[in-house]
Amino acid sequence: MTLEEIANDVRNCTLCNLCKERMHAVPGEGSSKADILFVGEGPGRSEDQQGRPFVGSAGKVLSKLLDSIGLSREDVFITNVVKCRPPENRKPLVDEVAKCRPYLEKQIKTIRPKLVCVLGATALEALIGESNLSAQHGKLINRRGLKLFVMYHPASTLYNNKMEAVMMDDIHSLLGILKNMDQRESGKLDDFSE
Ligand code: SF4
Repeated sequence: MTLEEIANDVRNCTLCNLCKERMHAVPGEGSSKADILFVGEGPGRSEDQQGRPFVGSAGKVLSKLLDSIGLSREDVFITNVVKCRPPENRKPLVDEVAKCRPYLEKQIKTIRPKLVCVLGATALEALIGESNLSAQHGKLINRRGLKLFVMYHPASTLYNNKMEAVMMDDIHSLLGILKNMDQRESGKLDDFSE
């Protein structure tokens, strides 16, 4: 399945009640060859209006974080655990996350990213089954053959100005992990083995 086919299915989806109040579904966007796939919670008001992920204030923070490691939005893939905006930006319900999950799984299978970056508590709970974000951020977790890296949600920097430094540290750790994986793939680390 192509990313566009998945996006079309999302735009026509009526599997959960979130379809009722959406202006636009927000399937996600970015490179089909992305090494990193970012997963946030769900679309907010701006995203719902434009049908694009992370275009509001949190999106600006994400772009800044990407820029700090020499990447742009076009280099990665950005999506959410639910593709339609929950009313009043409430947290998506367990049932909504479950119904929407197959779209995310199809996106991951199609792109086959090296890392899935989990942004915030809702994505952490949905993808890893953990609830303690402050204990898990900055960590690489293996689940069902996927490498998941945990970060705070970019929106957290809007309410707490100390969070930007924490997120900068984490995104640089992510870059380090990615570079290490690339070196292993290309066999360069073998030079150091016995
Ligand atoms: S949130 Fe997901 S499951 Fe619910 S209507 Fe939108 S696309 Fe379908």
